[in-house]
Amino acid sequence: MSEKIMKTVTCPKCLEKSDVKLICSANQKSVPNIKRSVLNDSFFKWKCPKCSFEKQLLHPLLYNDLENRFMVYYIPQTKKRFLADEKIENEYPDLSDIKKRLVSNVSELKEKIAILDSRHDDMAMELAKHAVARIVEKTASQKIAEGYFLEMDQEENTVSFQFFVGAEKRPYIQTTRLEVYNRSLELVKKHFADMDTHDGFIRIDSEWAKEAFRIYKNK
Ligand SMILES: [Zn+2]
Repeated sequence: MSEKIMKTVTCPKCLEKSDVKLICSANQKSVPNIKRSVLNDSFFKWKCPKCSFEKQLLHPLLYNDLENRFMVYYIPQTKKRFLADEKIENEYPDLSDIKKRLVSNVSELKEKIAILDSRHDDMAMELAKHAVARIVEKTASQKIAEGYFLEMDQEENTVSFQFFVGAEKRPYIQTTRLEVYNRSLELVKKHFADMDTHDGFIRIDSEWAKEAFRIYKNK
């Protein structure tokens, strides 16, 4: 099912007020082009009906893909690491084997969809990304501002990440052996598999990876 709310938007350029229908909860069946429109950045785009001024209209979105067993809850700017949502849990009675993720920006939302839609493990991907990021930081002698999964090439046996390095967020693509991901996957299965049996939405990001490595090393 898809859930929509109406909102009045004032154009920052011509000040015209208009009503827009925002999709707050959706899947590929209820909104067939949702995956593509989120991934190509058109989903949150708003265009003024009077002067055609365009801007991003960011709002919460619960993206669910029950076929691939995942849900991603995007809440702009949220600082929460965990979110329990009774309404959603009552609506979907069997959520126990569904990966439920919480993200705070559109890049994270896109990354989660790219990883989980391809049935990769996002915890393992974060651990692999964390390990690769440390190497990139050493090579570039700069801190990494952001990093995202880019692609996995099963034939070439590689996985690639897009990093943004330093204060100026210089783009930097790093490819590594698939083995790095596979080793991370073993680690997840052994130590962190129970994290996915909880109700509620959790943040699986670089901060989680850092903490996970710390816990694992102290075991
Ligand atoms: Zn306008």
